[in-house]
Amino acid sequence: MASSLIRGKHLLSPAGSGDAATVLYDAAVYQEDGVIKDVGPYQSLRAQYQPDAELGGLDYAIIPGLVNAHHHGRGVTTLQMGSCDDCLELWILAGWGRRPYDHYLMTLYTALNMMASGTTTVMYNHPQTAAATLKEDVDAVLRGFLDAGMRVAFSSYLRNQNRVVYGDDREFLSGLPADLADDVRRYLSVADMTDDDYFAFFDETHRQYHNHQSGKVRALLSPANVQWNSDEFLLRAKEHAARYQTGIHMHLVESAYQKDYGMRTWGKTPVAHLQELEFLGPELSFAHAVWLTDGDIELLSDAGATVCHNASSNLRLKNGIAPVNPMLARGVNVAMGTDSTAINDDDDLLQEMRLVSKLHRQPGIDAPAVTAAQVLAMATVNAAVPTGFAGDIGALEPGRRADLALIRLDRLEDPYLEPDTPPLEVVLGRAKTQDVAAVIVDGEVLLQDGAHRRVNKDDVRRELREQLSRPLEPETLATRRMAGRLTPYVEQFYRSRTPAVGTPHYVFNSRT
Ligand SMILES: [Zn+2]
Repeated sequence: MASSLIRGKHLLSPAGSGDAATVLYDAAVYQEDGVIKDVGPYQSLRAQYQPDAELGGLDYAIIPGLVNAHHHGRGVTTLQMGSCDDCLELWILAGWGRRPYDHYLMTLYTALNMMASGTTTVMYNHPQTAAATLKEDVDAVLRGFLDAGMRVAFSSYLRNQNRVVYGDDREFLSGLPADLADDVRRYLSVADMTDDDYFAFFDETHRQYHNHQSGKVRALLSPANVQWNSDEFLLRAKEHAARYQTGIHMHLVESAYQKDYGMRTWGKTPVAHLQELEFLGPELSFAHAVWLTDGDIELLSDAGATVCHNASSNLRLKNGIAPVNPMLARGVNVAMGTDSTAINDDDDLLQEMRLVSKLHRQPGIDAPAVTAAQVLAMATVNAAVPTGFAGDIGALEPGRRADLALIRLDRLEDPYLEPDTPPLEVVLGRAKTQDVAAVIVDGEVLLQDGAHRRVNKDDVRRELREQLSRPLEPETLATRRMAGRLTPYVEQFYRSRTPAVGTPHYVFNSRT
């Protein structure tokens, strides 16, 4: 039995419904075999238990391991791979000729980057890679997360319609020069997967990983988004999730064009369409959800669904700002994630928490602003809900897994900090990855003073550098040329359907 007592000057944890936080002074967490047995004043825990090891001290704050609630595993970022930030729909197209990479190495690198900011669990959403190698790719990704020691809620998304623009593929391709249309058809066919194949793939992945001996993997289903999946597929995913008692993770109204697709296709918002299909429910988590109406927010709240807020990504890909304040006011479970496109182009969840805490400060003395406790909850206990680890992670409470991070306080308090400054505000307002002293998962110290105990990051970086500097295959170059030729047609498609924008949730300025 391995036990430890982890001490902090401050212990910070979400409490109750997530609107409040537990803030303890000179407190400790006592864990045995990866499970938190007790939380309380350090001196009394010290007297009560005989731990194998003692960590932390009065120079540290203890926080729960952070949960990144939406991620695609791109440690070497899309910007590093040559795709500059752009409008989402064009950015997706720019990714078509992206350099292939080693999924295992990329995942290891991503995991180490995430852990650097205290992240211990990730909702990883696998992009639709070539059908022939999908299982191999997924095995490599999961081996990467497990070797790094991270907890992962895994899903692999499927797009089975409208794969070029938000409109019928055949109709759109018929408007292109014949040779270009042929090239696009050939390119798309590589990732072709029938619905049956998708569910068979899920069954196999679930069997292999959901009850993995590490206890660190959950397998979820993932339609990519309402415009990318048939209603039939969505309903089958819902049925499948019920059979397996697991969750469904998908993108939703990330851009105004996606909302517009709903209005044109069903005469209602995508959320209202999902409601009509009887698809919504507490097993659902939706990434982005920027373009929600008041009615949509009511529906998501009533369904008990989770929204995974991706503040950085929404800013970078010209999608706007999600209505987090109205969602919280209406009781929606709001989580947060970096979507592999964080504001500093890394996977720093501390930075993302800071961004979220500043972004939703509406002007005016009585206007809503998210609180520090709400932001902590969004990155911990709320984010745990859709992972399949709800109740096991996200808070420092007896019975939960011992996933936590120690934040060194010296730089945060230097050269002075007024003693009664609320410690949660201090961590949220000032902590950076350089202050993360230790990251612990299941009671095991995985990261200490910037060094991972199992994986040498320099080796990973060196290997990535070597692999990624190899000359591009002619096939990738040809895909890039094809995407370049296709771009003006895609631009024209979206220009021809500029979405009508209604009354905004937030008003940040005015022109008159
Ligand atoms: Zn995403």
